[in-house]
Amino acid sequence: MKETLKKLVELQKIDSEKLDLKYKRQEVLDGLVADRNEYESLERRVADEKQRQQEIRDEGQRLNREQAVLETRASELKKRLDIVRNTAESQAVGREIVANENKMQEHFEKVDRQNSDLEESLQKLAMLQSQFFAKRAELADKLPGIKETLAAMDKEIKKVDTKRKALCSGIPSVVMKQYTDLIRTRAPYMVVEVQTTDEGDYTCSGCNIGLPPQVIGDIIKGDQLVCCENCGRILYLAEKEEQ
Ligand SMILES: [Zn+2]
Repeated sequence: MKETLKKLVELQKIDSEKLDLKYKRQEVLDGLVADRNEYESLERRVADEKQRQQEIRDEGQRLNREQAVLETRASELKKRLDIVRNTAESQAVGREIVANENKMQEHFEKVDRQNSDLEESLQKLAMLQSQFFAKRAELADKLPGIKETLAAMDKEIKKVDTKRKALCSGIPSVVMKQYTDLIRTRAPYMVVEVQTTDEGDYTCSGCNIGLPPQVIGDIIKGDQLVCCENCGRILYLAEKEEQ
């Protein structure tokens, strides 16, 4: 069992190496997803602003048509004023002229608003586009490096897997099952060292509970795997304790 125990300690090292690699790989992927989301969000904002700008330009066209109508109306009224026959008619045309001038006033206020909206949109779009292009360039720049990093990590994980497989083949299946069960409940520490306190007592370094001396004797004897009664982790002794 002592050999098996050594293999289990080695297996745990390999497993934590693999976990670490997978975690780092996930970090790289998460970074990529975050970049990608930022890129897509900018792309959407550029499209939205283009759409808004188109609406502002359409409003400009509508205002141009409105202006033509108001101007035509103004010149018609002016002509009518030249041919009025009495005061009442003159007053009526005068009121229409004032009404048309008020509409014209409102119209020019709308034109001012439309102009400032367009100005604002042009600036915003230019800013968004430059952010978008910068992000795109940044991604294009980063991507080959990220792919390389991921490929290297995959290779490393494969290597660790191969090492793990070779090691597992030398461990009895009953023990492997015990270890695998512990992964589920006790990862990342399934096999833990017995600690010695300053008072010379023994504790499980997995859960810190005290261990009876009998346990130490059993480990030294090495007939069977010895587990912590509290947390169930497989116990081993530091090399110096074995001697
Ligand atoms: Zn324990």
